[in-house]
Amino acid sequence: MTNFFNPPLYLQRYQFVIEFIKRNKPKKMVDLGCNDCALLRKVKFHREIELLAGVDIDSAVIREKMYALAPIPTDYLQPGDHPLTIELYQGSVTEKDRRIKGFDLVTSIELIEHLQLGDLDRFSEVVFGFMVPAAVIISTPNAEFNPLLPGLTGFRHYDHKFEWTRAEFQRWALRVGREFGYEVEFTGVGEAPGQDQTVGFCSQIGVFWRIIPVSQSHEPEGPLLYKLLYSVKYPSLCDNNVLQRILVNEVLYWSENLKRRWLEETSEREEDAYSDQNTEEEEEDMEGRLAERLSQMEGKEQDVERQPADWRRRREENEEMEDDDLTEGERLYRSGRSVCVPVARLWSCPRVESLSGNISFLKQILLNDSRVSMTEDGLAVVLAEAEDHQDLDYSDAPECTDIRQSVVCTVEEDWGA
Ligand code: SAM
Repeated sequence: MTNFFNPPLYLQRYQFVIEFIKRNKPKKMVDLGCNDCALLRKVKFHREIELLAGVDIDSAVIREKMYALAPIPTDYLQPGDHPLTIELYQGSVTEKDRRIKGFDLVTSIELIEHLQLGDLDRFSEVVFGFMVPAAVIISTPNAEFNPLLPGLTGFRHYDHKFEWTRAEFQRWALRVGREFGYEVEFTGVGEAPGQDQTVGFCSQIGVFWRIIPVSQSHEPEGPLLYKLLYSVKYPSLCDNNVLQRILVNEVLYWSENLKRRWLEETSEREEDAYSDQNTEEEEEDMEGRLAERLSQMEGKEQDVERQPADWRRRREENEEMEDDDLTEGERLYRSGRSVCVPVARLWSCPRVESLSGNISFLKQILLNDSRVSMTEDGLAVVLAEAEDHQDLDYSDAPECTDIRQSVVCTVEEDWGA
């Protein structure tokens, strides 16, 4: 069956779940029979989910790749807006553990056919009677498709206890739905070749929607039978420490950027003004020499009075023209050997406003962060006009041949902050 479907059938099942998540935006999801967490590894990128759990009876298979669910550097550099917790349990879907209550979505992908029929009843009681989620997605092989699978004799897997036709699956699902107050939609993935409609999908899927409201108690009751194998919390902007770090990083980045641009523009304007002055002086000089020559020729003294070019005044006018759309309080300015970047100017930089919400919160964060220097009135970020690399002594960094590398390799990021 490996090359029978494109994309492979298991990926089509995962994609079905992903599309469901995109449409319905559940906040808490648990995958029963999660195996090596392949589905969870895909779902974790949908950051509207705040609690993601996996349960499997086989702890070895969970452990195989569970660390692949850990946050990666990008998750620290660009934390999500919502918190995300991932928990993995070793336990049986036939047993009730209170930590799997309160989920919006339960998925059971190619699991039920591994249960004895008696355990299947316990599974229904656990999922629909005890967990009572808003939605449940159950997929299982469609036995009617089996004759189309090349070389298959018997069940699709040695551990399968049954494989149902569409009618058998629908009868079971509708009975469970009636018993526990769910309605069911039937669909599937893995189409037959030549779009043969008669056999149905290779994997049949039932999507169960709860139609009877239930009141969830805040503290779920029940025993703790499962074993927690792995638990991780992702950094998110809901955590004040993370928010502060990201906001200050953003402010420092934009402050340096604005400072560099402002210094470049300022020095360009100064150079322009200086060369304008020179050109004028050269022209005047030439005119003077011509007039002198003429007067000499005419035998008369020529009065060549030259106006001093006020390039400073013109530079300032020019600067005002460039900064025309900024208010006085938004303009960068020099103070000694420093450049001051007003907080009012930083406010309009991408992400700064959305991360901080209001300008007084932004000021408060910046005043309280040791990485930021502020003016005494707290209205601007102060940056050194130029980085003075001559003061740094790199002699203790023999492994780094490039100065920039040596700076990079001495910097330690404080992820725990
Ligand atoms: N859902 C996964 C997927 O789609 O990739 C894996 C499906 S795999 C065919 C079935 C999984 O169900 C196995 O990992 C198995 O260990 C697990 N399983 C079987 N009986 C179970 C039980 N009673 N409780 C929890 N998990 C069980």
